[in-house]
Amino acid sequence: MWSIHQSYIDGAFVPVQGSERIDIANPATERVIGTVTLANRDDAKRAIAAANRAQPGMAGSTRAQRIEMLRRLEAAVLAHTDQIREATIEEYGGPLARSQWVSNYASQCFASTAQMLQDYAFERRLGDATVVMEPIGVAGLIAPWNSTAGSICSKLASAIAAGCASVVKPSELGPLQAQVVTEALHEAGLPDGVVNVLLGRGGDVGDEIATNPGIAKISFTGSTRTGKRIARAGLDTMKRVSLALSGKSATVVLDDADLASVLPLALNAAFMNNGQACVAGTRLLIPNVRMAQAIEHLRAAVAAMRVGDPRDAATAVGPLASQAQFERVQHFIRLGLAQGATLVAGGEGRPEGFVKGWFVRPTVFADVRNDMDIAREEIFGPVLSVIGYGDEDEAVDIANDSPYGLQAYVFSSQPQRALRVASRLRVGSVLVNRIGPELIAPFGGVKQSGIGREFGVFGMEAFLEPKSIAIADSPAQVAQAA
Ligand code: NAD
Repeated sequence: MWSIHQSYIDGAFVPVQGSERIDIANPATERVIGTVTLANRDDAKRAIAAANRAQPGMAGSTRAQRIEMLRRLEAAVLAHTDQIREATIEEYGGPLARSQWVSNYASQCFASTAQMLQDYAFERRLGDATVVMEPIGVAGLIAPWNSTAGSICSKLASAIAAGCASVVKPSELGPLQAQVVTEALHEAGLPDGVVNVLLGRGGDVGDEIATNPGIAKISFTGSTRTGKRIARAGLDTMKRVSLALSGKSATVVLDDADLASVLPLALNAAFMNNGQACVAGTRLLIPNVRMAQAIEHLRAAVAAMRVGDPRDAATAVGPLASQAQFERVQHFIRLGLAQGATLVAGGEGRPEGFVKGWFVRPTVFADVRNDMDIAREEIFGPVLSVIGYGDEDEAVDIANDSPYGLQAYVFSSQPQRALRVASRLRVGSVLVNRIGPELIAPFGGVKQSGIGREFGVFGMEAFLEPKSIAIADSPAQVAQAA
């Protein structure tokens, strides 16, 4: 049984002042595996104060010192890779391969950020001015439950590279994963207060971070609704905000694509992370002339898909993270049926043979119109909407007809043609003939999918503020200016 009743503040694990207790359950068995006491606003204030004490030291740190901190974090998190993977499986139900990927990524993002920092030009010359990229100040890093370790580590890597101390608020729904990561961060032995971590409610600890004048920057990953609330709350103190939000990504299969090789990738893009992925390609756009063939492929592929124990390497889809997620997905499956979509695979309820655990049936709907709720709303579960199109222009129009714009996928046997389509899509990133991201390229959304970019150099610059310093060459220039 896990017992998590401490926050990490000023370089030490300290008892939380909050009193709300919640249970942690394993979503595959529904069994309680631990309890957590949540931090409250007072804990958040202490963490923010500690980060502010650490900030001058961080702002004055050299490039070499920051690289050294990132390397220590990389090593410490790497040493905890197995624990992060196990926590991701046990608490979240992440399938083995995905959980392994996330736990590897947690240390790799420190390594790639250290690498990027080697050559970054913090100073550049523009006309008469020297432009200096300065740390923005103390950062609030707010993470969702569907990628706890990855979100914490990637945001933290960028903040440290930029010279910002941080207050991290993982989701209260991912305490075990957050605890394992925080223990690793502690072992890196950074100066006290550079990293502080609190598990607390969004409306309490999160709101304190969003409104406290001691926070200069918020890097948030989560739902569009919460992102807007945070942006509004941060306005009074003029916080800089980066918002990585919800998505409803389109996978565009062009008429020249080889369906047998492309559709398994498209399904993987839709159902990755048990469908609980912001970048899930949940609208599959298929040429009308190839629809019948595509549906047969999809039906067979989903029938062969293993749902079950996330620890089993053969499992493609594990349980959803919580009962709330289970109910949400059931609601959308019912809505799809009620609005006239055709069920190709899956449907309501648990898969056959399951009586416990938040397992759902991987579901594919055909005959979906892009104005149906299942095509517009982020369902956040393994539910795929297949939409037919006539020509390339119509495919682009449908893909772009969404409130969201996080990511898109394009498949074609002609890369140049796929790139032409990619250039017309209104999204933050496009993956062509692949579903794996490039993790040093900027990542983020347009429209309701967010503001700002994460990862690599763009991720670090989100924690920097340019300052221009122009100096007169001679007294004559001073007189002229006067
Ligand atoms: P959420 O918005 O409910 O919560 C995210 C975080 O915000 C949590 O830590 C939560 O406690 C906190 N929070 C809630 N209310 C708050 C408030 N008023 N002030 C400050 N903080 C508050 O999101 P979630 O359900 O945890 O995550 C799923 C969502 O995240 C999905 O919409 C998904 O698409 C999105 N997401 C986006 C990305 C991306 O990179 N674009 C990545 C992962 C997840």
